[in-house]
Amino acid sequence: MKIETKAVHSGDRKQDPDRPGAFVPVTTPVYTAASYIYESTAKLDRVLGREDPGYCYSRYDNPTNVALEELMMSLENGAGALACSSGMTAIHIALLAAITDRRKSIVAASALYGATTSLLTKVLEPLGIEVNFVDICDLDAVRQKIADHKPGCVLMETISNPLLRVGDMDRVAELTRAAGAALLVDSTFATPLLLRPLEHGAHMAVHSVTKFLSGHGDVLGGIIVTDKEHTDPVRSLCRTIGPVLGPFESYLTMRGIKTFAVRMERHCANACRVASWLSSHPRIARVHYLADPAHPDAAVIRRLLPDGLFGAIVTMELKNGTKPDVFRFMDRLKLVVRATSLGDVHSVILYPSIASHRDVAPKQRERLGIHDGLVRLCVGIEAVDDIIADLEQALA
Ligand code: PLP
Repeated sequence: MKIETKAVHSGDRKQDPDRPGAFVPVTTPVYTAASYIYESTAKLDRVLGREDPGYCYSRYDNPTNVALEELMMSLENGAGALACSSGMTAIHIALLAAITDRRKSIVAASALYGATTSLLTKVLEPLGIEVNFVDICDLDAVRQKIADHKPGCVLMETISNPLLRVGDMDRVAELTRAAGAALLVDSTFATPLLLRPLEHGAHMAVHSVTKFLSGHGDVLGGIIVTDKEHTDPVRSLCRTIGPVLGPFESYLTMRGIKTFAVRMERHCANACRVASWLSSHPRIARVHYLADPAHPDAAVIRRLLPDGLFGAIVTMELKNGTKPDVFRFMDRLKLVVRATSLGDVHSVILYPSIASHRDVAPKQRERLGIHDGLVRLCVGIEAVDDIIADLEQALA
């Protein structure tokens, strides 16, 4: 071979397990190849036709992504999973799959992540898909909305942002299934350690793996976990649209997931301590946290979530807090990071009025309970005394 040919072909490990001296790595390698070679065209034909197992093209599937997908299927007890390039892409694809063979109508929880609301109202509605919102914690209202609009899909979040409301997923699933619709649950805040939506009647669960699952603030990604019925429709949509996660991000996500349960337990324990400390602080008017026995959804929380695992998010309201008060408080923090996102190992604080609810008119924000003094804290896994000391000096 000429040097130009050798430069292209030599050295590559073609992952042939029969090759003498073949090695088996202890972690899943990052397969960056876009396509795969077979010993014959007949074999390639069988793999393309799905008669034989194998990989052809990374928009269809990729060994690193498949490893992550199998991992998430196993954590969520799903029949299939698909890794996507962001949490938003995962929600978009899952919604499309839910309504492909159903009525082009969605009933969605009114308390949703801001970009999800925008996806519904600014992308899907203009395409002719009917969208109606409902308070997902009000089961009579959910029943009525479903009866009125006969949706193809119902969309909810396990734990809402930033007020941490928890809808009764079992009952919502019953109502959704009775109407022949698909229930899609964004379970990013809960992770499979706290709750597995498919075990509560959901057809699909989505996660922004950007958050607790990857856990270190260095990945943007999403995943859809599907029941049997939705596995092929989701995969087929993804093959066509091509929203795939890059294999390096898959690798980082799997690396993060190996420690996610340990991190999550620490996040939750720290958040419990922080919430209870904040609730007796004279400058704090109110604390929203799932462990609060006076939480409006306390009975549902006790039934759905494991004891002692109440999530990492603590939302607080500064007493008579105005926007400048919140900015002053946040600017004084030295350890807690002022940033968007959540679920990283470090504690992160965010002011919903300038982030997730930036585009919501002030009056509407008030109506939703997002007051000017409301701040969302995602408690990290640092020593909890250091987190509390930082909050204390910033509130002083
Ligand atoms: N769902 C929830 C609950 C979120 O908080 C976010 C992002 O903050 C998303 C979905 C979107 O995820 P991504 O930013 O990975 O697209």
